[in-house]
Amino acid sequence: MTTLFVSDLHLDPARPAITTLFLDFLRDEAMRADALYVLGDLFEAWVGDDDPSEAGAEVAHGLRAVADAGVPVYFMRGNRDFLVGQAYARRAGMRILPDPAVVSLYGEPVLLMHGDLLCTDDTAYQAFRAQTRDPAWQQRFLDQPLQARLAFATQARQASMARQKEMLAGDRGAFETVTDVNPAAVEATLARFGVATLIHGHTHRPAIHTLQAGGGECRRVVLGDWYEQGSVLRVDAAGMTLDRL
Ligand code: MN
Repeated sequence: MTTLFVSDLHLDPARPAITTLFLDFLRDEAMRADALYVLGDLFEAWVGDDDPSEAGAEVAHGLRAVADAGVPVYFMRGNRDFLVGQAYARRAGMRILPDPAVVSLYGEPVLLMHGDLLCTDDTAYQAFRAQTRDPAWQQRFLDQPLQARLAFATQARQASMARQKEMLAGDRGAFETVTDVNPAAVEATLARFGVATLIHGHTHRPAIHTLQAGGGECRRVVLGDWYEQGSVLRVDAAGMTLDRL
């Protein structure tokens, strides 16, 4: 049997084919898995569990069917959907994991993260992250009417796109560095948790890296995004493969 990891689906009513691909994945392969982990950015945006969007409802239904079939479904919040709450998690039959979290996978401890915490070179983003993960900030935000929250999300997305464009127009090498994980942060994190395997998403740079950290050889597995196709990490007792869907 196999444990499945996905992240960075960025589900959005503007890209219905990707939602369909994910729902097909849930109806088929996920039903037969040992467990399903969604490591953040399941949704392109999330402004509260009271958002009546169709994509959210369909996806909750699909995830719920997997959970009801006896497959544990775990969710870690990403930087786009950090406001997914317990109400939505209950509807979808999934358990929310903290970021970072260590889980046991076929006898091996494995560290799971969304990945944004490792991008320490992006100091502006880390400041935004700290502010928006503050429970008081979140409560103030969620207390606003849905329309105001949706407007904020659109504005934040436009600001993020403008910033990316600005960085891309500048030094391409600097852009690559700022938007990827910081190698020292990766090594320190692996050493701190004393694990040899880290699985994360966020950077949209799917790969299985080997590196030295904490006095031994480690693996850093980066999940791919679902903008153009699907991406899934399949893990079993024999090993792991990172595949496109
Ligand atoms: Mn992300």
